[in-house]
Amino acid sequence: MKKMSLTFSFLVISINCFSQMLLHNDNDISHPLVVYSTMSNNPTPAVNSPKVYNIYFHILTEEGGSSNVGEAQVMDAVKNLNVAYNQFYIFFKYRGFDNIYSNEHINIRTPGNTISPLLPTQDDLHSFSLQNNHQVDNAINIFVVHNFLQIDNGIETVLPGYVSYILNPNVGHNMPNIFIPEAFFTTGVLVHEMGHIFGARHTNENGVGLTPINSSVCERVTRDPDNINSYSGFNADSAGDGNVDTYASPFEYEDADVDENGVYIGHQRDCSGFNGYDSNGNNLPYLPGVLYVTYPVPIKNFMNVNRIEDIQFQGEFTFNQGERFRNYVEDPINSQLALFATTVESLYEPFETTNIGGNAIISVEDLGNGYATVCRNLLEKHRFQKGFDYIFPENDGDPDLINVNINNIPVDINHSLDYPIIINQIDPTQIGTVTVVCTRGVICTEEEFVSGTDLITDFIGSYNFTIEQWDKLKVNDPNLYDYLQAHKYHIIKKVTETGVLYEVVVYKE
Ligand SMILES: [Zn+2]
Repeated sequence: MKKMSLTFSFLVISINCFSQMLLHNDNDISHPLVVYSTMSNNPTPAVNSPKVYNIYFHILTEEGGSSNVGEAQVMDAVKNLNVAYNQFYIFFKYRGFDNIYSNEHINIRTPGNTISPLLPTQDDLHSFSLQNNHQVDNAINIFVVHNFLQIDNGIETVLPGYVSYILNPNVGHNMPNIFIPEAFFTTGVLVHEMGHIFGARHTNENGVGLTPINSSVCERVTRDPDNINSYSGFNADSAGDGNVDTYASPFEYEDADVDENGVYIGHQRDCSGFNGYDSNGNNLPYLPGVLYVTYPVPIKNFMNVNRIEDIQFQGEFTFNQGERFRNYVEDPINSQLALFATTVESLYEPFETTNIGGNAIISVEDLGNGYATVCRNLLEKHRFQKGFDYIFPENDGDPDLINVNINNIPVDINHSLDYPIIINQIDPTQIGTVTVVCTRGVICTEEEFVSGTDLITDFIGSYNFTIEQWDKLKVNDPNLYDYLQAHKYHIIKKVTETGVLYEVVVYKE
């Protein structure tokens, strides 16, 4: 453990000292990416059917200790994911979280990290989680670790997030696991990693710090598709992430090049200055290149990968990115997404239902064999995940259901029957018609009758009556009816073992 704490100290220092740190070391590990290079199939995101995916969280926790990450942080992460993706009709259904108590797996490393070879890798954590029942088979599993250490330019630094597809033998298929250090858990990094699962590339893919400035894969600033010079012309549909509306990013930049809103204000020019070769194979004279600031540099884009300092600005997807998400989820070739997909209806279901008492009896039925079927409507509390604006049209003034919005966890305890719920993000135009039932637990049990009374009278309402007390033997006598006085009304009350009353009126001829 001592070694780990030393590693952590080093890590903190390195964050402060190296401003040009890469968030991802793409030489060390690579993302499984499938991206269209053309925009041939562009659905309009808003008209597509909702797609819903299960997410489950695992919080690495010190043995016998507690974690800084609890339900509040998990719920914020659920909200962040939904807020980022709902505009493309992609939704996330929260399926819960657990703690993985393991000192050994709290900190992990990338396989290429040879500075801390004793730390487990994300693959080791994956195996450990499988062996110890910490993988949910039909969900995207998100592991929140204390630290995730990579090597970048020979220096051990934090890897803010990573997604990898690892075989889950229970499913018989590779499933996406996200690994994220707790410091980045409620930042845009989780949204970023989820983007990879839905086919997104970095806006500066092959870009920052990795590509020679004269490389053909360097994305050029121009957005003019008629500018077809192969060295300096339009390549926005194939370079970077291939999205024309995520603009080109500079090679490298400093704090001074970014204002307090995360807007790039530097003076660098793009790689269009390279002008090809002469007949001897020598570089032709360089052109000036185009200023990156000609278009907004996508520093705040979720899929921007540059400096740790830029994570604070993350918060945007573009329309073309959304189109690609939709292309990706609609394409049958990506059928693996169905392994962790769920229904739209599931979003209307509470993520947690707890019995908080109450004992309202709905019905009592005499089975005629000394027993009764007693059905109770137990009082339960339903909680709904963050990330949506809910409307409960039949809300009867429950204070927990007033002002429910993406930042609250709505709690319902007042409703006693099924009730409609509307989620604006799924269908805001159909208010009042989206009705999905949330039922409290109606639980029926068989209970034995233990006593009873028979009020005997000539007519109902008469003050002239007699009462007979029945013990357990009498009340359960199968020939009870035969013993009743003839030509009389009998108001029979039977009491079960839990005190539930069954009442019936008979007239014996
Ligand atoms: Zn990435």
